[in-house]
Amino acid sequence: MSLYTKYRPKDWDELIGQDAICTILKTSLQTGRVGHAYMFTGSRGTGKTSSARILAKGINCSDLNNGNPCHTCKNCKDFDAGSFIDVVELDAASHTQVDKMRSLIETASFAPNQGKYKIFIIDEVHMLSDGAFNALLKTLEEPPAHVKFILATTEIQKVPETIRSRTLRFDFGRVPTEVLFAHLQNITKQEGIDAEEKALKVIAQSARGGVRDALTLLEQNTIDNKLSTGQVMATLSLIDESLITNIVSCLYEYNTQEIKEIIQKLKNEHIEVQGFFDSILYFLRDRLIETIGSEKFERYNEIFQENYRDIKFIPDGLLLIEITLLRACTPKQQSIPQKQAPEKTQNETQNPQQKQDPKPNSAPTKIQKTPVPPPKENPPQATKTPQPKDETPPKKDETPSKKEETPKTPPVENFSYRRLLDALGDHSGIRFALKSASFSCEGTCLTLSFTSKWNHDKVADPEAIILIQERLNSLFGGQWTLVCNINKNPDTSYVEEVFV
Ligand SMILES: [Zn+2]
Repeated sequence: MSLYTKYRPKDWDELIGQDAICTILKTSLQTGRVGHAYMFTGSRGTGKTSSARILAKGINCSDLNNGNPCHTCKNCKDFDAGSFIDVVELDAASHTQVDKMRSLIETASFAPNQGKYKIFIIDEVHMLSDGAFNALLKTLEEPPAHVKFILATTEIQKVPETIRSRTLRFDFGRVPTEVLFAHLQNITKQEGIDAEEKALKVIAQSARGGVRDALTLLEQNTIDNKLSTGQVMATLSLIDESLITNIVSCLYEYNTQEIKEIIQKLKNEHIEVQGFFDSILYFLRDRLIETIGSEKFERYNEIFQENYRDIKFIPDGLLLIEITLLRACTPKQQSIPQKQAPEKTQNETQNPQQKQDPKPNSAPTKIQKTPVPPPKENPPQATKTPQPKDETPPKKDETPSKKEETPKTPPVENFSYRRLLDALGDHSGIRFALKSASFSCEGTCLTLSFTSKWNHDKVADPEAIILIQERLNSLFGGQWTLVCNINKNPDTSYVEEVFV
């Protein structure tokens, strides 16, 4: 018997992570105020089917115990043995049942044989055929007094409104990670599994609130009654935490050079994209819990989550990782340098703290186990000058104060915007948009400012960015950085998006 089947909740007290729903349904049973149709919706493994069974069992139990089925009366025993004929469980996703689904629903008009109520549990109800939906709707419109429906679905939006509006809806949220973790601890203890705490934590996180997935992972990775973190990480293709720590430290310091080296390393190692995003997101989640209010971590979390959603749209996963890391490694707000920029640079030199966010740790080493942000970060300065890109890798022992004192870099000697436009003759759309932009250049950082969002979006498209960077690199040498912003009103530099 699988762990999932063995530890499937048998009453409300055993169901985890759905306290509010449990309380309501328990009270309904206790007071005898049970609705005639329920709709349980939520992602997989959150307890919908288990709740449907507990409710169905409770409705027909002749000796309820505090809202829970007693497990000892004849109806309960027959239910457990699968021989209680008044509860009909259907899986609308199962093709073998398609034909009989309609006729089964039509049997609702017959009185129950054994219990007080005839109960239909229909799993994945959104998959019902049109004929079955019509039969269901007909029954729901004029429900016989002896019939109850418990419908469950992972895709509520696919269930016709006519059906939805006739049911009591319960939304099953994902089970919180800490609840899942405690559940796993409890099960490993009962099963005598020697489990590393970290391994259970990783499973709880990666199951994304689904109990079934968590228990399947636990079972899969338990070897000789032992569960190791290494085994779980390997199964889930997760990245080693020291590398993740290093990446986040580099992002924290805006160390683009080292991030680029890491990207190259990731490419060489052919890492698994989903595992990479999972690893980073778990790491950030932990740090967010530890250091609530860290703007940078919140921003990284947003960027990684946002780009994670693009996995299915971007076939080259490594490109997605590259775009995401470089985006996260660029300060949130950058604006084009104004005419008085040299004066500002001077001011910033006088107040170096205003220019850069404080480092997580002033130690010169770039690899820190856990970057701990300061209690409150200074918001990025609206008029901050983009950091010039060094063409040579920064020295490992270079102190931040030295960097900050570096004067503004002039554009590379041979830079010509005209030559860039000419080199993009084969991409007329991008070229047209570039012609509409005002630009400034510092070292190998080209900042483009658009008054039109349409033109901005044309250039800020990831593919266009890469194309332009490649042309810049080959025309003028070095590794170029591209910054795009929208500046509708020349007096206020509103930066919408920054790409590298
Ligand atoms: Zn009972």
